[in-house]
Amino acid sequence: MSLVVQKYGGSSVKDVERIQAVARRVAARRDAGNDMVVVVSAMGDTTDELIDLAHRITRQPEPREMDLLLSTGELISSALVTMALHELGQKAVALSGPQAGIMTDTTFSKAKISAIDPARLERELKGGKIVIVAGFQGLTEEEDVATLGRGGSDTTAVGLAARLRADACEIYTDVDGVYTADPRIVPEARKLDTISFEEMLEMAQMGAKVMHPRAVELGQIYNMPITVRSSYSDREGTIIGVENVNKVTGIAHDADVAKITLVGLPDRPGVAHQLFAPLADAAINVDTIVQNVSHHGVTDISFTVAKTDLQSSQKFIESVARDLGASSVIANPDMAKVSIVGTGIQNHPGYAARMFGAMSEAGINIDMISTSEIRITVLIERAKVADAVRALHRAFELDQA
Ligand code: ASP
Ligand code: MG
Repeated sequence: MSLVVQKYGGSSVKDVERIQAVARRVAARRDAGNDMVVVVSAMGDTTDELIDLAHRITRQPEPREMDLLLSTGELISSALVTMALHELGQKAVALSGPQAGIMTDTTFSKAKISAIDPARLERELKGGKIVIVAGFQGLTEEEDVATLGRGGSDTTAVGLAARLRADACEIYTDVDGVYTADPRIVPEARKLDTISFEEMLEMAQMGAKVMHPRAVELGQIYNMPITVRSSYSDREGTIIGVENVNKVTGIAHDADVAKITLVGLPDRPGVAHQLFAPLADAAINVDTIVQNVSHHGVTDISFTVAKTDLQSSQKFIESVARDLGASSVIANPDMAKVSIVGTGIQNHPGYAARMFGAMSEAGINIDMISTSEIRITVLIERAKVADAVRALHRAFELDQA
C-alpha cells in the first residue's frame, strides 16, 4: 500500500462545503487503496482573526499564550474534516501536532520541528484509519505548544512525509501550482510543470507565497518531492524537486520589505557582529546587507528586514547605534524586493545586465542588489513592484514555454 501525505490550506477548508469537498477528495484516495495522512490549516482567515482578538486584549501578548491561541485554529479544522470523513463512512482520527508526535524547539511563533515520533501515527494507520493532523504546531521540550510560523502547515506536511517515508506529498491550495510570476500581477504568467528544490527555495524566500520556505528546505534535505496543486480543480499541479532546463524559471517579489541604514559607523573589526548578533538572537531574518566603502574611518551599513520585523529591529539597532556612536539610523518601511530565479543563471553571464536594463527601461531605480548562484535580487520602492515584475517577465520571455 502506498502512503500519501496531503495538506489542505486555509482556503481549502474555509467553510462547511469546502471541508466536505476535502473529505470527499481524501476518501476517494483512500478508496483507491492508499494509506492517508492529511494535514490541515486553520479555516480561512482564522489565524488572522485570532491574532486580532489577542491584540484587542493586550498590545504585547506573551508568546507562549499566543502560540497556544493560534494552535486552536488548526485543531478546529482537523476535528471538522475528521467528522466529515466519518459522515462518509470512513475510519478517521484527528490528532493535534503534539499528539502526532511533532516536537519543536522553543522559539515561539517561529518554532522549528526538532523531531517526530511516528509511533502514534503508525498505530493509527495500522488500525486502518485516515489520520488528520492539525498543522503548524508541535510540542517543545518543556511541553508547551509552539507554532511553526505563518504558513507553517506546509512544514508539518513535508516533515511528516519525510519521517514516514511517504510515497507522495501533496500540498493543496487555492492556486493550481507554481507560476513564472504572480498571475494577479502578470496575466501571461505560466504554470510550471516542475521546479527544482533550489529554485523553489529561492522563490519562496524571495516572496513567492505558494510554499513555506522551511517546507521546501525539508523536502530538499530528505529528497521528498512535493506536488503543489489546487483543491478546487483536477488540474495537474507543479512538482517541486525535479530539475528542469529553464535558464530563468520565475520572478519572485516581496512587497513587505523595510530598509534600515546606519550612517557614520566606525569602520573597525566587530562592528557588524555587534550590530547583527542581537537581531539573530531575536530570530529576526536580515537579508540584503550592503556596507559602503569607508571614508575617514566611518562607513554606512544598510540592510533589509521583513516589514513586520521593522519595529523590533529598530529597537535593537538604535541602542547599538548609540553605543557605537553612529550619526543616525534611517528606516524606510516602503521597499520591495524583486528577484529573477533560475539554475541557468550560474552558467549564463549577462543575466544581471539584462535585468538592470529592463529596470532602466521601465524607469525604476535600483536601491540595493544581492545575488546567489541562481538568483539576482533588486531592492526598489514598493510603489514600483508590479511594474518591475511585469518588465522582468517580459525581458526574460517567461510567457513563452
Ligand atoms: N494557519 C496558519 C497561518 O495562517 C498556518 C498555515 O496556514 O499554514 O499562517
Ligand atoms: Mg492560513
